Amino acid sequence: MRHVVEDRNSIDDSESAALQGLSAAGDVVYDWNLLDDTIRWIGPVEGLFDLADAGEIASGDTYHGRINPEDLPQRLTVLANHFACERPYDCEYRVRGQNGHFRWVHDRGQAHFSPAGRAIRLTGVLREMTSRKVDEQILSYAANFDELTGHYNRTRLREALEHAIAYAMRYGAPGAYLAVGIDQVALMTDSFDRRTTDDIIIEIGHRLDRCLRVSDVIGRAGSDQFGVVLTQCEPDEISRVTEKILAVVREFTVPTATGAIPVTVSIGAVSFPASAPTAHEAMGRAESALRDATRAGHDCAVVYQPSEGQQRDHHVFMDIARDVQAALKEGRLVLAYQPVVHAGTSDVAYYECLVRMLTEDGSVVPAAAFIPVVEKMGLIRAVDQQVLELGIAELDAVPDLVLAINISGATATDRIWMRSVVVRLRDRPDLASRLIIEITETVALHDIDETARIVAVLRDLGCRVALDDFGAGYTSFRHLKALDVDIIKIDGSFVQDVANSSDNQLFIGTILRLARSFNLMTVAECVETEADARALEAQGILYLQGYHFGRPALTHGRSASLSLTGRHAAAS
Ligand code: C2E
Ligand code: CA
Ligand code: CA
Repeated sequence: MRHVVEDRNSIDDSESAALQGLSAAGDVVYDWNLLDDTIRWIGPVEGLFDLADAGEIASGDTYHGRINPEDLPQRLTVLANHFACERPYDCEYRVRGQNGHFRWVHDRGQAHFSPAGRAIRLTGVLREMTSRKVDEQILSYAANFDELTGHYNRTRLREALEHAIAYAMRYGAPGAYLAVGIDQVALMTDSFDRRTTDDIIIEIGHRLDRCLRVSDVIGRAGSDQFGVVLTQCEPDEISRVTEKILAVVREFTVPTATGAIPVTVSIGAVSFPASAPTAHEAMGRAESALRDATRAGHDCAVVYQPSEGQQRDHHVFMDIARDVQAALKEGRLVLAYQPVVHAGTSDVAYYECLVRMLTEDGSVVPAAAFIPVVEKMGLIRAVDQQVLELGIAELDAVPDLVLAINISGATATDRIWMRSVVVRLRDRPDLASRLIIEITETVALHDIDETARIVAVLRDLGCRVALDDFGAGYTSFRHLKALDVDIIKIDGSFVQDVANSSDNQLFIGTILRLARSFNLMTVAECVETEADARALEAQGILYLQGYHFGRPALTHGRSASLSLTGRHAAAS
């Protein structure tokens, strides 16, 4: 609705008190008279702009002079839209302080219109958000680049590989993917300190940079492995490149803190798209070729030969798919329960359900051994459907139990699955409120709008939604806001060894601040040691999960105490 004011051009004292009440401590309120272009400021404006006197920005013109020229057009557009369409405006931009440094501010407000419909005043609140922006930058750096070498991380590398494969298919210009493993790293780790192995890894990265074309993409694919995407590389050119890399690495010893060390690498290569139509397959096949190269005695390269390997994979996949299909039919898919505990007390808050396949001879197969194959072979919806039914039955049978179930990407956007959730839960808020659905971050980001819709339906039913493997993808503040989930589960790779890793501590600290600003509950997974548990607790994570507190088991305790009274009760 439009705010129409009669014949006043500025806010009076009661309005100003109300505005001050609206803004939190530290916020700055402004009242901009558009008729005579004067701005009245309330709150610590001098601090925000490093000014001696707010009089220096007492007009719209002088204020705009303080806005970063890159951001000004965006604010003007937002304002113009606001004048036209009446919704309150909301934008973020940088303002320059007296010392020349820019600060990020969040600006939201509302215009006031004359009875004739003319905008005559603008009142709003500025909030400084520099630390949030810095956090966002740290987060996006960690999501894209490897901290040690500055190269792309595995996620980003895979994305570059996907693009290269798509390009190769479209233009018929083949490329290659190389998995470059540093030889004998396990031995080095035993003999040298961490700095020395780090020095070696960094130097190998530099040598790759130097001997490859600028158009080739290099990333850190694992602790002792680089990945290289070679664009426009015919299959018969691969060995020329691998020979060059082997020679450049072998040629000189690597200078390290411990002294000069001779280093070699082994390489597994695959040509795409012919031998690997997807990034996932290209990486898997190059890495399997790398293992062959290592077995062959190091300092050599093996190019993946499609025929045998593909057939082998295909057979293995078919066998697994057949086993899972039989298990589905015969009721041999069951749930294992892993506790998620309150940090500090270690009391169980809830259990995560992890699917298990019981073989005919009674042994238990973990999810990791068949879920990836099942996802490829198109069976995952049936598995997730079964897990949903088992989970709901268990919730129905055990009144205090709170459970989390996992769903795959294909399921997350599957209307049949969604409908069955709705049918089962719409009249059972008592069950819905005890069910958490875990969606992995990478899946959620794949189609953010669709995922946001699904999250909204699940939350309307009364379920809670967790973003699993958080940190492994590219989530930003914007995504988190759009997704509106309840819980983030910090990916195990940031949790393991957190007690000794300042990188992981920094990352988790950043995630925690982010989570607090959205009132989200945080869970750290893969907590394996007492030291890591203490470190996470000290950082302020509220819930912990991992082998240290309990492995997944086919039975569970009965009681759980995850606060059920509303979304934010557990966050604070
Ligand atoms: P996830 O959801 O991230 O589950 C955690 C995995 O880590 C589980 O493996 C669990 O056994 C293991 N884990 C738990 N604590 C620790 C720890 O302290 N250290 C280490 N190193 N590992 C720990 P699992 O059960 O083999 O599951 C693997 C993945 O399979 C899961 O990852 C999840 O993405 C998927 N999955 C499991 N159950 C289902 C399901 O019902 N449906 C779907 N779609 N996916 C499932
Ligand atoms: Ca999970
Ligand atoms: Ca996880």
